[in-house]
Parts: sequence; C-alpha cells; structure tokens
Amino acid sequence: MGILEGKKGLILGVANDKSIAWGVTQACRREGAELGFNYLGEMLEKRVRPLAESVDATFIEPLDVGDDTQMDVFFEKVEQQWGKLDFMVHSIAFANKDSLRDRFSNVSREDFQLALDISAYSFVACAQRAAKLMGEGGSMVTMTYLGAVRAVPGYGMMGVSKAALEASTRYLAADLGTDGIRVNAVSAGPIRTLAASAVGDFRKLMEKSARGSMLGRNVSQEEVGNTTAYLLSDLASGVSGEVHYVDSGFHVGAGDPGVE
Ligand code: NAP
Repeated sequence: MGILEGKKGLILGVANDKSIAWGVTQACRREGAELGFNYLGEMLEKRVRPLAESVDATFIEPLDVGDDTQMDVFFEKVEQQWGKLDFMVHSIAFANKDSLRDRFSNVSREDFQLALDISAYSFVACAQRAAKLMGEGGSMVTMTYLGAVRAVPGYGMMGVSKAALEASTRYLAADLGTDGIRVNAVSAGPIRTLAASAVGDFRKLMEKSARGSMLGRNVSQEEVGNTTAYLLSDLASGVSGEVHYVDSGFHVGAGDPGVE
C-alpha cells in the first residue's frame, strides 16, 4: 500500500513533463493519491490535460494564481468535486525575465511586486482556501531555492521572493498547525525546466552546484518528487514549518554557486 493511499491532493504548477511538479505528480500517483491539477490558460490546457489524464486525474481546472476571482472559483470547484482535500503542492513562480537579467539594485517597484505576488503571496492565497477543505492531517508543500538565503548571481528578485515564501511557510505552519495542518517547503537544487531558463547563466549554476555538492551531482525531478510525497504523507506527521533541502547536500558544503 502506498504512503498516500486514500488521499486526494492538488498539484499546482505542472507546465510540462520537465516541471518539478511533474516529478511530484509521479511520486504521489505511485504512492496511491488521487490527483487534481490547474493550468494557466487555454494554450497550456493542451499541454497539461494529457499529462493529467495520464495519471487518472479527477480534477483539471484553469487557475491563474494572480487572480482572486479565479482562485475562489477554483477552490469552490475542488469542494464540489472532492468535498475534502488532504494535500496541496504549490510549485509556481514568476518574475519578469528582464528584471532577473539586470542588476538586482535596478529592480522596479512593478517587477518587485509581480515576483512577490506570484511566487510568494500566491502560496498564502492558495493555503488560506485549501485549509478550509482540510482537516487534521492536512499537508501543504511549496518549492523554494537556496537563493532565498544566499545571494546567488542571476537569481536576484526571485531570491527575494523565495525568502518571503520561506518566511510565509513558517508563519502558515504556525497558524494552520492549530488545525492539525502541516506546511513545509522543499528547497530543490537546480533542475533544467521552463522556469529555470529565465535564470541568468543557469548552465554554469548547475555545473557549480554539482561540483560543490556532497554527492557530486545535481538532483532530478523524481528525487524532489519522492521527498515531497514523504512530506505530504503521514510518515512526516511530526514535520512542519521546515525547509527541507533536496540538493545533494550542496547547502551544507563549502561550495558556493557564486564563486569560481
Ligand atoms: P516550471 O515547469 O516552469 O513551473 C513553473 C510553474 O509556475 C509553471 O507551471 C507556470 O505555468 C506556473 N505559473 C507561473 N505563473 C503562474 C500564474 N500566474 N498562475 C498559475 N501558474 C503560474 O518550472 P519549475 O522549475 O518546475 O518550477 C516550479 C517551482 O520550483 C517554482 O517555484 C520554482 O521557483 C521552484 N524551483 C525550481 C528550481 C529549478 O532549478 N528548476 C529549483 C528550486 C526551486 P506556465 O508555464 O503555464 O506559465
């Protein structure tokens, strides 16, 4: 029997089969969960729907996390379809590509707010709606990166957003813990995805991360997915407010992605 058998969960942020959310999907499905997905717009529905159907998804609906009305409609539909929600994975981030390429000190108010809104506040906005459908044993996980706690070249505004996301994880964990709901973040090492292509010199970042890690290699979507499935499951019933690194041990080593 899988560790998520009998549980219903949302996975937000599958863009394609390279997405971290897709690695999470495969692990959750293998462990027995019934899954629901979002897609951002009609164009993306064409990509997400076949993937979702391939894992027997019972819920596939549009959701732009920057839109409160869409958010309300989406979670109302979750309630109508499933009644109760056991877990939610938030694997969503966005920043203006130009603002990541420019010096961080030049970031505009608009780009700052946009990145924080979609990459950090959206987790809080999803959590407040998802929590209403969860009971004791509910679990939420978001995806973060080392750039939250170190100034990683090329990661600028996204690093600031991830710092807000990690702090939000702790405060959500404190609030929702009184309802028996756990909230954690997974800090993944660099993985080649659509979102990663916005980060300046990502290839170099991957090389440095592999070299500086304990295992001497980067991690895969599958490895991030497996750890996320554990955090979503009752096996992690005593874990909340945590940032769990899945980075081959890079963050505790002497290596630094910013240093030659
Ligand atoms: P990805 O496949 O491009 O996933 C990012 C997702 O965010 C996409 O599904 C994207 O949808 C979605 N998104 C962006 N704006 C949205 C909005 N307004 N409403 C709804 N969805 C929106 O890239 P990924 O690397 O797997 O990223 C997933 C998460 O992992 C992100 O939080 C990222 O920061 C984090 N992470 C990534 C790495 C890495 O090296 N790749 C490392 C650590 C953490 P569309 O594509 O449809 O726009």
